[in-house]
Amino acid sequence: MCIFCKIVGGEIPNKTVLENDNFLAFEDINPSAKVHVLIIPKAHYDSFDVTPPEIIGEMTSFVQDVASKLGVKESGYRIITNIGKHGGQEVPHLHFHLLAGEYVGRLVGQK
Ligand code: 5GP
Ligand code: ZN
Repeated sequence: MCIFCKIVGGEIPNKTVLENDNFLAFEDINPSAKVHVLIIPKAHYDSFDVTPPEIIGEMTSFVQDVASKLGVKESGYRIITNIGKHGGQEVPHLHFHLLAGEYVGRLVGQK
């Protein structure tokens, strides 16, 4: 079972920001910005690339709710999803990174 499935199952503790029946948002253990939240479907999909569009649609709405809960809608935020080896994905369970709380830069990629 993957590490995020273990988080969903409660086997690994997490700092939950928001949750509903199908999605979970929790703080990243190694934050890259003042606010760094991971947003995942509770069901396992390896990455964005293999996730059904209707799940992404539902997830979009949940991401917007997370941004509201964090109070970053006005100040702004960045969403990132890494896909596969060249995308720098380390955990093979679809997740969106939500970065906020400070200016998070303008570049779309960095090495
Ligand atoms: P990726 O590189 O796959 O896009 O991002 C994986 C993210 O998961 C990383 O930012 C990493 O800090 C985070 N992460 C890995 N293991 C855990 C964990 O056990 N708990 C939490 N909260 N975050 C984790
Ligand atoms: Zn998983």
